[in-house]
Amino acid sequence: MNAPARDLDHAPRSDWTRAEIAALFVLPFPELLFRAQCAHRTHFDPNQVQISTLLSIKTGGCPEDCSYCTQSVHNDTGLKATRLMDVEAVLADARAAKEAGASRFCMGAAWRSPKDRDLDAVCRMVEGVKALGMETCVTLGMLTAPQASRLKQAGLDYYNHNLDTSPEYYRHVITTRSYQDRLETLDHVRHAGIAVCCGGIIGMGESADDRVGLIHALATLPMHPESVPINALVGDNTPAAASAPKLDPLDFVRTIAVARIAMPRSMVRLSAGREQMSEETQALCFLAGANSIFYGPKLLTTPNPVADADRALFGKLGLAPMPLTGESDA
Ligand code: SF4
Repeated sequence: MNAPARDLDHAPRSDWTRAEIAALFVLPFPELLFRAQCAHRTHFDPNQVQISTLLSIKTGGCPEDCSYCTQSVHNDTGLKATRLMDVEAVLADARAAKEAGASRFCMGAAWRSPKDRDLDAVCRMVEGVKALGMETCVTLGMLTAPQASRLKQAGLDYYNHNLDTSPEYYRHVITTRSYQDRLETLDHVRHAGIAVCCGGIIGMGESADDRVGLIHALATLPMHPESVPINALVGDNTPAAASAPKLDPLDFVRTIAVARIAMPRSMVRLSAGREQMSEETQALCFLAGANSIFYGPKLLTTPNPVADADRALFGKLGLAPMPLTGESDA
């Protein structure tokens, strides 16, 4: 077995080699999950899961050509584009999410990058959500350094910007921007003092080596992202979904486990694709070190089978929502 020996202190490190990450991926499944559990228990309560809510503040019409995304103008998905939501409407949703128990409010806009006038409105949203006593996260596309500073001044806690896949596979997924563009925005966000939420998508037709490359790219950033969303491809009617082979759930669980071991103090978020997973797969993901999920605000505020199923699963597994102070400061 060529995987690195068990790391008993599970301290975060950014000098992972690709060979070390590859060796983790091929560990026997029980050994991999045992190591992931050890890393998880060193830094977190293994029975707590952090819950975030996500609101699309501007949907569709995005000029980028991400082949997995229903919001790209390049993908004929039938999605109706909307304008940027009114600030007061966003704050009303945030208030409802808070009343339903959410601690973090994430706002997403389908842009290549924000225009300055749009950023003014987003800053007012961030200020308003902060004033409610919630953590804030936004995802707006590529940022310049001054834009990142403006968001920080507005009180932004987290910025989501995913690397999506390995550097080598990236051009098969997106052609309108480069991996380097992504890394530069992450650098601006980090230098502005905003926490980073950055992960990727599994099941887009990438090879096992590409999954190694994604986790390696994330784990060798100068600082590990505080949140690492791992998505399973959904992308209804998108080119990626039309051509990719079906994802083996155990490969997804392996990816979660390797992310947990390689970035032991990060929140590993079970993100898109969770609704399509069986309870057993989700339970294995929590066992492999996932400790964060998304709840949409509508799911929190209206009777909803998905929200009911989540509550039932938490009850069956004995999981509890993580309190606000539970975030890693890695
Ligand atoms: S940048 Fe974001 S919203 Fe735009 S197409 Fe890509 S994933 Fe979709």
